[in-house]
Amino acid sequence: MAVVHDPYEEAKKQLRQTIDLLGLSEEIYEILAVPERLVQVRLPVKMDDGTVKVFIGWRSQHNSALGPYKGGVRYHPETNVNEVIALSMWMTWKNSLAGLPYGGGKGGIRVDPHKLSPGELERLSKAYFEAISDIVGVDQDIPAPDVYTNPQTMAWFFDQYSRIKRGQYFGVVTGKPVELGGMETRIIATGFGTAVAAREVANKLWGGVAGKTVAVQGYGNAGYYAAKFLHEMGAKVIAVSDSRGGIYNPEGLDPDDVKKVKNETGSVINYPKAVKKLTNEEILELEVDILVPAAIENVITEENADKIKAKAIVEAANGPTTPEAEEILTKKGIVVVPDILANAGGVIMSHIEWVNNRMGGWITEEEAKTRLEQKMVNNFLKVWDYWQNKLDTTKYNMRAAAYAIAVDRVVRAMKLRGWI
Ligand code: GLU
Repeated sequence: MAVVHDPYEEAKKQLRQTIDLLGLSEEIYEILAVPERLVQVRLPVKMDDGTVKVFIGWRSQHNSALGPYKGGVRYHPETNVNEVIALSMWMTWKNSLAGLPYGGGKGGIRVDPHKLSPGELERLSKAYFEAISDIVGVDQDIPAPDVYTNPQTMAWFFDQYSRIKRGQYFGVVTGKPVELGGMETRIIATGFGTAVAAREVANKLWGGVAGKTVAVQGYGNAGYYAAKFLHEMGAKVIAVSDSRGGIYNPEGLDPDDVKKVKNETGSVINYPKAVKKLTNEEILELEVDILVPAAIENVITEENADKIKAKAIVEAANGPTTPEAEEILTKKGIVVVPDILANAGGVIMSHIEWVNNRMGGWITEEEAKTRLEQKMVNNFLKVWDYWQNKLDTTKYNMRAAAYAIAVDRVVRAMKLRGWI
């Protein structure tokens, strides 16, 4: 029987390992293992047919030592409170590692957004933001898109908050449409950042990414743009998948072409130029240089880790690898560029958007993209150097280095504030 993985338990395990690695005290573990605040809201929504449906949502504010909470809101039929807490903890580490002035937060609503009309989605989104309006704010907590939410969702959040608070608070959410204070580059940011991280690890391992084979599991915003930019960098994307399955072509796929077919037909599996269809499990086990899991948590577990043949894994999704799986991968010598490093492009760009909003719109798209790329490269090198110079690389993967840097910064901020 398949083992059931609880992301919160996995997140606590990763924290525990870092506390041990850094020789920190039990009280620090206890402070960091639990969110500062966790809110559950019940959201009755008038449906188009006149009935009322009740949805449940959460916002987890994990840690604010470094600044206001920051992190996305996901709409997913299977999300739950423990997943949201885990994701909020991962945001604390991600923001800390990236050197941003943010703590970590995350939200979620248990809903399948594909089953709602645009009107129903707008009412649900506005009900959620009204319900959490007293705990979010430009300097308090700044939501953003995540799985199955997008700039339109952010526009509704922004509008609702601005109505309630009687102002125009552009900086209360990021990932907004360009018309409402968003930045063009935010849309590509997570996937572009992941591609940069993949390029950097390829530079270290093989002297370049050109010609390297890539498989991408998940073809949403992060997966598609990771594939697109890796393709532009000269890598060969030989397999991609979405929730309905995967496609394979050893000659390489054209990510934009695949995206067009997905937009038109609902799935990548209808792409005509694939030589073979794959399941989502098979795509993870393909013989490739770089595997990019870009869907959801816990897809690489102790059950399949042994079958992974990629040489490097670059995590575009949050939490795709369990700690048990990582031990197996490390023993096999597979380099894991962890989520909090590899997918930080989204929140790094969110920060630029937030700064730009506070300055009344000043930063150009060009500046934004250059800064994003520089930050991704610097972050990568910071973690790589720590891993190579301070840790036994046969025992620890890159994640241990990333966590050590991230947790240490949060702990120092907590000490300076007098929390510990
Ligand atoms: N949801 C994204 C993440 O997991 C972005 C968060 C943000 O931009 O605040 O990193």
